[in-house]
Amino acid sequence: MIDGNERNRTGSTGKRTRRAARAAHASLAFALLWPLAMVLAPAPADAYGFQVHRLVNRAATTHLPAHFAGFAQWVDDLERLSTAADERKGSVQGERIKHYIDIDDYPEFFAGTLPHTFDGMVAKYGLARVEGNGTVPWAIEDNYETLVAQFEARDWPGAVATAADIGHYVADTHNPMHLTLNYNGQLTGQNGIHSRHESQMTGRHLGELVPAPAPGDVRRIANPREAVFDWIDDLYPGVRKILDADTNARDEARGSTSNEAYFDVLWREVGSETTEWLRDASVNIARVWYSAWLEAGSPAMPGDPPGSGPPPANLRTRMLANVPNPFNPTTTLRFELAHAGLTTLRIVDAVGREVRTFDLGSRDEGPGEFEWDGTGVSGERAVSGVYFVIVTDARGGSATGRVVLLK
Ligand SMILES: [Zn+2]
Repeated sequence: MIDGNERNRTGSTGKRTRRAARAAHASLAFALLWPLAMVLAPAPADAYGFQVHRLVNRAATTHLPAHFAGFAQWVDDLERLSTAADERKGSVQGERIKHYIDIDDYPEFFAGTLPHTFDGMVAKYGLARVEGNGTVPWAIEDNYETLVAQFEARDWPGAVATAADIGHYVADTHNPMHLTLNYNGQLTGQNGIHSRHESQMTGRHLGELVPAPAPGDVRRIANPREAVFDWIDDLYPGVRKILDADTNARDEARGSTSNEAYFDVLWREVGSETTEWLRDASVNIARVWYSAWLEAGSPAMPGDPPGSGPPPANLRTRMLANVPNPFNPTTTLRFELAHAGLTTLRIVDAVGREVRTFDLGSRDEGPGEFEWDGTGVSGERAVSGVYFVIVTDARGGSATGRVVLLK
């Protein structure tokens, strides 16, 4: 967070470093930032933003599922290094643009046709525009890949530093003002709203922002980059809410943007949303860490009891009861996936004839659902009777459920 006022709009024009170089850099940064973080006290204006990053990274360690809970042994490092990414903005070239994306500069975002890969974006808009608008989704994606490699290598100090950075960038994406060209209200005559909301308001309510532990919400993410774009879609309407709250607060405070009346109204208007955003940030951080650890083969951590290795198979690919059942004309097909990734649902009739196959795209591990309107391939309504629904997960695991259409 922080830094809405002093963003470098020109960005870096250097090419993104390759993965190997990035991994090396992460270890180097870890070695260098230890002493640096201790001597560089944050500037006063940054202090509350820093406090929020610390709070969110610490909260993420309270959400870890039981078989990954050993990662919380580094909670103090994960908290302390949560602000390292901000602290190196001045010294590491290309760092500054990794903290935001001005996604409303792209009309395709609103049309739902924005490319999501970095290469796809550069091909469409050119490197200068993509970098100028910020690159936070790909900073998270790159760091995820680095984290997988560090988990595979049992490089725990490296993994902790990378995980802390991921926490920072994920938290940044959960501040709507990091998602807009109007990042400081400068386009609507609301200069300074960035830090009024994210630092000054949150600083007055830090104790209320700590989310409850939610280990049940932490499941594997199929594709971290897609997950980032999904939650950006959810967060973006918050831009409007924050700007409207600022207008109302200023009106009620008779033009002030600095007195307690102003901040009381700002909190009343967007306090609960901000609490939700930070909760979601901490859960999503835990999901990214956990997914990287699973992808690396669930390596045992120092201090883990012997034989505690990979997670228990507490998820299995299966069909759950559809709702309603019997149904007419539509029903929600519900299932659980043991493995994240490309998933299909196939519907056959009682004698095994194919009725319809749905490609569900990339799905997260855990429960999922899909609405079937009772129609076949060419839109015809299926007749009354028993149908079988077959779900197949990304690794070919499948299971069958039974639904009844009654007319
Ligand atoms: Zn930041």
